[in-house]
Amino acid sequence: MNPESSSPLPVVAHWIDGIEYPSSSGRTAPVFDPALGVETKRVALADQSEIAAAIASARAAFPAWRDLSLARRQQILFRFRELLEAKKGELAEIITSEHGKVLSDALGEITRGQEVVEFATGLAHHLKGEYSENVSTGVDVYSTKQPLGVVGIISPFNFPAMVPMWFFPIAIAAGNTVILKPSEKDPSAALWIAKLWKEAGLPDGVFTVLNGDKEAVDGLLTSPDVASISFVGSTPIAQYVYETGTKHGKRVQALGGAKNHMLVLPDADLDLVADSAINAGFGSAGERCMAISVVVAVEPVAGPLIEKITERMSGLRTGDGRRGCDMGPLVTEAHRDKVASYIEIAATDGASIVVDGRDVQPDGDANGFWLGPTLLDRVPTTSRAYTEEIFGPVLSVVRVNTYEEGVKLINDGAFGNGTAIFTNDGGAARRFQNEVQVGMIGINVPIPVPVATFSFGGWKASLFGDTKAHGAEGVRFFTQQKAITSRWLDPSHGGINLGFPQN
Ligand code: NAD
Repeated sequence: MNPESSSPLPVVAHWIDGIEYPSSSGRTAPVFDPALGVETKRVALADQSEIAAAIASARAAFPAWRDLSLARRQQILFRFRELLEAKKGELAEIITSEHGKVLSDALGEITRGQEVVEFATGLAHHLKGEYSENVSTGVDVYSTKQPLGVVGIISPFNFPAMVPMWFFPIAIAAGNTVILKPSEKDPSAALWIAKLWKEAGLPDGVFTVLNGDKEAVDGLLTSPDVASISFVGSTPIAQYVYETGTKHGKRVQALGGAKNHMLVLPDADLDLVADSAINAGFGSAGERCMAISVVVAVEPVAGPLIEKITERMSGLRTGDGRRGCDMGPLVTEAHRDKVASYIEIAATDGASIVVDGRDVQPDGDANGFWLGPTLLDRVPTTSRAYTEEIFGPVLSVVRVNTYEEGVKLINDGAFGNGTAIFTNDGGAARRFQNEVQVGMIGINVPIPVPVATFSFGGWKASLFGDTKAHGAEGVRFFTQQKAITSRWLDPSHGGINLGFPQN
């Protein structure tokens, strides 16, 4: 990235020790308003001294935060939740101005993140241990859950509020201190959240924002003072983060990319399917890890379904997310161009372009990073447009003749994040949920993101590590268990015995 210290644009700083911490690295990256197509800010890219300052602050804050009573921690979480509820409109505007998604969608992601805050307010319950009395005469065994220390969160551009919120409420509730490294494409949401924590009474150093690129990520991955890493992003980086973090002795959960299929059986309600395909394919301009990118139509439904989807697509308004449109721009020009290139790849490989989003007339500035909703039919499963994650508003239809062919297609894919089946046949749906090799499954539900009391995460190349986000797995990830075996003084103790203890 360019050294731009003389840039007149505002620079998004770090948040260290409870204050905005201006960068002295001289390295910054551009932040765009994607609906206007202009650079509106720069973001600081941390150097070694800033990485060290962030880690030192989080480390110093840990002992006192770990020792604060559960009741006091809970009160701070409740205050954070109330402030978030009251002010989330402000955060939504920030998200739309840097990511581009429409305001209602930005509010939606905050609400889903808030669910995890609400889950975390139950910390006194989540952190309870177990107790077994008299495992041997006069001997009791019990377990406790303790925090890990300083934990790192590295997040992607597509959910600048929700994805960090999958992790930090539980991490903080459990007594850890957090360093969040947000995406450099839309970093301001993280800073806004840091200020909200301060207002809620969180002690300085418990929540830190370290802006940056690979250098900041590597700093967290290799530091002996960072106990764990929660990563969400593309598969190659997830794999790198998992391998590097575990090599440095850390606990790592690394959620990767996706290619989500919707299997449509001939008995499905095609109006529901068409609505769902539109919502899940084009919401947030397809920049969702749970977006549906492939409709697998079991014949003879493809023809009538495509007709219904096309009909609905003609009513979609693409434009500035602040103008009440259905779909906003893509996050950057480079990403827009990459997504658009898959339309050409698919066509060259033999797919037919039913609706071409490159022709879109947006309700927004001509310089915005626009690409309209696109529908492709008969996409060959050998095409890169099928095998690779596109991460944009491009919906592909693949035609199959049987349920078995459809499930095989899904199971042969590299990813295993989300999938959905549309049918009125309960037996088929039950068979699907059992046979499909995917972590999150919808039955007549297109974006099956589990609620916060359950855990979020995929299989195969969609998750490296063995622990998902939030719910019981989230609590497990951010705590380490201790088992204590205790015997209080008993005059009839057994004397010397070098044998292995047995009960
Ligand atoms: P990305 O992998 O480019 O970036 C994610 C994070 O990694 C960012 O913070 C970035 O700064 C950092 N990073 C980027 N390159 C790096 C490198 N070479 N070394 C170290 N760190 C690096 O992902 P993105 O484009 O921001 O987000 C989109 C991707 O995230 C898609 O693939 C999407 O499917 C995935 N995603 C997955 C989930 C899930 O739950 N599985 C959720 C949201 C997004």
